[in-house]
Amino acid sequence: MTQSERLSREALFARDGYRCAYCGQVFPPEELTVDHVEPRVRGGDHSGGNVVSACGACNLRKGHRRLADFLAEEPEARRNFFRLARYIWPRHRRAVAEALGKRGIGVDD
Ligand SMILES: [Zn+2]
Repeated sequence: MTQSERLSREALFARDGYRCAYCGQVFPPEELTVDHVEPRVRGGDHSGGNVVSACGACNLRKGHRRLADFLAEEPEARRNFFRLARYIWPRHRRAVAEALGKRGIGVDD
């Protein structure tokens, strides 16, 4: 399986060890959701390089905020995302890191 292939929900959750990218906890598959790093409405695709596993509570809390906005406001989610989301395309990670940097927030802060 490569990063660019469309991942099934099950394959995504297995890849991420059933761990939410934002709170870092492990959940049964029925409590996990597929979260797009670059939103689909902004052209993000469903490849493995653009999706992370997120628990329902974190996905709900993130809501319609852009990922950088959510991570700017939630330090724990920010640390977990940069620690856990190792499969995300480097350009997506970089874009999020740059958006945070513009607010004076480092990825390890
Ligand atoms: Zn979570």
